[in-house]
Amino acid sequence: MRAAIYARFSTDKQNDKSADDQRRLCEQRLPADATLVAFHADDGISGSVPVLSRPGGRALMADVLAKRVDLLLVESLDRISRDQVDLEQTVRRIERAGIRLVGVSDGYDSQAGGRKVLRTMRGLIGELYLDDLREKTHRGLVGKVSRGFVATGPSYGYSIEKVDGGSRYVIAPEQADVVREIFERYANGSSVQKIAHELNRRAVPSPRGSSWAVSAIYGSPVKGSGILNNTMYVGRLVWNRSQWLKDPDTGRRQRIDRPRDEWIESIDDSLRIVDEETWAKVRARIDRGRDEVTGRKRAGRQPRTIFGGLLRCPHCHGAVVAVDARSYGCAARKDRGPSVCPGIILRRDRVDKLMLGLLRLALEDPRFAQSFQRELREQLAADDEDRGKLADRLRVLGGQIDRLVDAIATVGISDSLATRLKTAEAERDAVREQLAAAPAPVDVAALWVEVKARLQIVLASGDPAEIRAGVTDLLGPVLLRVDPSTGHTWGDVAVRALVDEQTGNKKRRPDESEPALLKVVAGAGFEPATFGL
Ligand SMILES: [Zn+2]
Repeated sequence: MRAAIYARFSTDKQNDKSADDQRRLCEQRLPADATLVAFHADDGISGSVPVLSRPGGRALMADVLAKRVDLLLVESLDRISRDQVDLEQTVRRIERAGIRLVGVSDGYDSQAGGRKVLRTMRGLIGELYLDDLREKTHRGLVGKVSRGFVATGPSYGYSIEKVDGGSRYVIAPEQADVVREIFERYANGSSVQKIAHELNRRAVPSPRGSSWAVSAIYGSPVKGSGILNNTMYVGRLVWNRSQWLKDPDTGRRQRIDRPRDEWIESIDDSLRIVDEETWAKVRARIDRGRDEVTGRKRAGRQPRTIFGGLLRCPHCHGAVVAVDARSYGCAARKDRGPSVCPGIILRRDRVDKLMLGLLRLALEDPRFAQSFQRELREQLAADDEDRGKLADRLRVLGGQIDRLVDAIATVGISDSLATRLKTAEAERDAVREQLAAAPAPVDVAALWVEVKARLQIVLASGDPAEIRAGVTDLLGPVLLRVDPSTGHTWGDVAVRALVDEQTGNKKRRPDESEPALLKVVAGAGFEPATFGL
């Protein structure tokens, strides 16, 4: 396997690692069967400069387009670009060339993420920011905690009081009552959902000031997040125990334990909110069935569903997920209770059957094909324009060079003619390079055939996991609607997501309306009766 490393070091960012440091980090992650064939670097160049305008970036893309490498390692994706559009385009070119892209610090791996590159990236950008912040604040934090001051942010159940030289936690009586209530209810066998529903029914503000969800209460016992896992409620403050890093091979976050001498522990009984007995009961209930080494539940995985998470609730527009073995339902209703969303319950087998039937029908509908192709053409227009401009410039330069060569042949070479020829040739080479690196023209009709075939194969496979992956990649969220006169539920299938997948458009924010190009409930061929759930 031929591997390349790209590094970029920007002088204006103090926390940037030097190009050599980045290279070392990447080399440590080089698979045993890989040979490093290229190292490209841009020193002192900001990530806002387009990749193709940097010497190292251009050399890298030349390798990529010529498929001279199979694996590209970078320290993190923001080394490639800090500009989202540039980053997306570049990553797509790299991956379209069949090259595996791995970010060793941020855990990005084009193979782990499947085709859902863009989705992965959105989360990634947030994480990059967080990692950045973590690194910056870490040193200050260690110093503060060892002096007994508040080092992390606010913690539910406590307020922060300014004192000389810093600030300290003080119990906030009202929130402390809620903490005790949560612990007592859970210790007495109540489900986390029930607790959330009850708090929401009484409109008790959550730690974030909104409604309570399961995650806020139960969180993750492994990560120590969530009210029920916070040792602060028994006066035990432990910081710096572990660090979360992503494994570049699996893309999963892994907890890396820090050596014990780096732990910062302090006992402060004045912060205790929950008594030891209740705490022990809660721990026993949470830890039941948990692996002692990994801390993870030994129970089997959640059942995979085809459309869970892909449907949108008609009332709150939030995700509709599998709520039990037989039904899809509103996640907010399940997690936060009826006071947050009245919810919706749909039989999974019916939804799966109807949605898949509908997709098969839609794939054969010429209007679906037209919508897809029209949208795609519009979105590719900018690329076409860029390519057109470059091609025009190339023609002009070609003419100039021809005339210069003619002139030299007729009147003989002179310094000025030689200089002009050299300049024109240099520009021609640069434009050629840019043109080679520009996104290739897309045969929209052929692409549709490919997309259609891909989806048909996936639909025919009969394998739920496969269908889910294919459908999720190719289909946008389906907003469910309830017809008030009949009480029937309908779904709008947006073809646009299909197009976004091809052009690398950013995914819409969930609160943005998704224009449905093909309403599956309307028109001939899609009789409402075929989609009533
Ligand atoms: Zn809802």
